[in-house]
Amino acid sequence: MANVTESILDHPGSEEVKRWTIQFPGRLEATVMSYGATLMDLKVPDREGKLQTIVLGYDRLEDYQQDNRNFGNTIGRFANRIANGKFTLDGTEYTLPVNNGPHTLHGGPNGFDKQIWQIGEVHTGDDEVRLRFTYHSKDGEQGFPGNLQVRVTYIFGPDSMKITYEAETDQKTPVNLTHHSYFNLSGDMSSPITDHTLWLRASCYLPIDDTGIPLAEAPAPVQGSPFDFREAHRVGEKIDHPALSETEGYDHCFVLDPTGMDTVCARIQHTGSGRQVEVRTTEPGIQFFSGNFLPSEKLYEGGRHFGRYSGLALETQHLPDSPNRPDFPSTILSPGNRYHSETLYSFLVMEE
Ligand code: BGC
Repeated sequence: MANVTESILDHPGSEEVKRWTIQFPGRLEATVMSYGATLMDLKVPDREGKLQTIVLGYDRLEDYQQDNRNFGNTIGRFANRIANGKFTLDGTEYTLPVNNGPHTLHGGPNGFDKQIWQIGEVHTGDDEVRLRFTYHSKDGEQGFPGNLQVRVTYIFGPDSMKITYEAETDQKTPVNLTHHSYFNLSGDMSSPITDHTLWLRASCYLPIDDTGIPLAEAPAPVQGSPFDFREAHRVGEKIDHPALSETEGYDHCFVLDPTGMDTVCARIQHTGSGRQVEVRTTEPGIQFFSGNFLPSEKLYEGGRHFGRYSGLALETQHLPDSPNRPDFPSTILSPGNRYHSETLYSFLVMEE
């Protein structure tokens, strides 16, 4: 039932970047590449059965190399921000390269999103295609301690994409891995996601300072704020609220109510096309980023059209700045233990 084609996308330096296209005809088409273990494209049907792209992306490797918006990337070693690029572990202070004002964002300027991953396994079954990528992050890479062996597996079905993450280390280190697709379910990337509806199973979120770092009093209840998505709201409904002016929209981490793979924790709907995405995860948080800093016009010739608010990311993860926050769930992986995380995205058509 599924077709998989493999090709070489590009040859940066002496290495090859490979690309795979997975097709469940009429149901789902995905393109993944080994640079950044990245989802380049994903097409799913609208209510008329029309397959259209629902994620932001480029066609050319060089556009991904030059960009730091993380379209479809795998993010590590530590997703989100580490304040001032510093943390202390067992009495040793570690200093990381900074790339977001004074902070380290998404693992640093040369995070996992900028690496060529090895392909471990491609498995094609009737109802499932698995692509397993591996990456060896060396001790000291981007300032982090320990050799970290990472495996990320994309598992595609006719109407789903599951991503599993595993890692092992030989020294204690913070680990927080996520996926950074920007969804736009309308089928038209130039149309803003402010007309999408979002539901989040989160009673608390993390208020942040004006540089994006959670405040000491975080988490705070969403009750009575523009962060309350416990009933579905249009993304644009309160996007101009003064509480969102510093970030020019949503760029906040939500603390999920106790959840797990059996419970939907987030749902995006687009009434016009009838497309809907449901998210389930083992992670305690979701960073909701409404694409605030995307430029207002298309940037690269090789890219699809995009602009401000033209995609929204729901990044399942542990909480930002956890290495400096003993009050947050720990992100420290120790030798002998295995990091495991998974997130399932289901692609559905809304009922009339
Ligand atoms: C961050 C944003 C950032 C974006 C692209 C999001 O996870 O919170 O501030 O612009 O990723 O890297």
